[in-house]
Amino acid sequence: MGKFDGKVIIVTGSSSGIGRGTALLLAQQGATLTITGRNTEKLEETKKQLLSAGSTEDKILVVVGDVTKEEDTKRLIAETVNKFGKLDVLVNNAGGATPCDISQPLTVFDDIINQNLRSVLALCQEAIPHLKKTKGNIVNVSSIAGIRAMYTLAYYSIAKAGLDQLNRILAIQLAPDGIRVNNVNPGAIRTDAMPAEAWDGVEESWIKPNTPIARVGQPVEMAHVISFLANNEESSYITGQSIVADGGFSINSPVPPMGPKT
Ligand code: NDP
Repeated sequence: MGKFDGKVIIVTGSSSGIGRGTALLLAQQGATLTITGRNTEKLEETKKQLLSAGSTEDKILVVVGDVTKEEDTKRLIAETVNKFGKLDVLVNNAGGATPCDISQPLTVFDDIINQNLRSVLALCQEAIPHLKKTKGNIVNVSSIAGIRAMYTLAYYSIAKAGLDQLNRILAIQLAPDGIRVNNVNPGAIRTDAMPAEAWDGVEESWIKPNTPIARVGQPVEMAHVISFLANNEESSYITGQSIVADGGFSINSPVPPMGPKT
């Protein structure tokens, strides 16, 4: 018996990285899944991995689409409910960190906000009527860039901070309907967001010196947090929270090697 037996879950951005790792864990835990992204080939690879992990054709729906396009977000929810008859959990994971500072034009701002924030609101608006019926829940993948001001990822940092606030607003508004909403805020997680050599460089130069758990994280470590938040038994009294999973990076402060003598 898996903890998500009979549960229908959408994981956006499941063609890669944290989304793929999450889909894989949830499938192992019994979930019926809609996997989605823009890249058909990578989605097929995710599906292959789900089948190898013990899932079956009848428990997987693949929807190719762009979360920044309203017709695609509507289709994603509609096709899921048409095929499986209901929706229990929406995992809003699709997103991406585009480096920029605030000198970049507003069109760049709009694109980054659309990809990381507006798309989540759009999907939630479509999903909420169905989640009300199942007393389901929503898990959003935010970032430590939402709680720490990362100026080299300026618009992304602003978008994820907005996502953390959207999380709290949704949690308050939806609690009377029995729907919980939570965020996971990952630190540096080794995914396809960067090539392997770039991750090696980041790990050595930036993560190891600044992170108590001195390494980058793995997608499966985020998947376990998402699985916990998505489970109505395990996290039944948790809503509106942003759970940081960053090896301690964000609690660390730059300090001299030794404090002053007392
Ligand atoms: P990946 O690049 O490996 O995966 C990103 C996923 O998002 C892909 O499946 C991609 O699908 C999908 N996606 C992006 N934009 C769109 C879009 N417009 N429409 C549909 N799908 C889209 O990155 P990660 O796994 O690292 O990122 C997943 C989430 O985790 C993001 O929200 C990211 O901000 C967050 N995060 C990641 C961190 C990290 O260090 N890796 C740290 C903190 C947060 P496709 O390519 O098929 O379109």
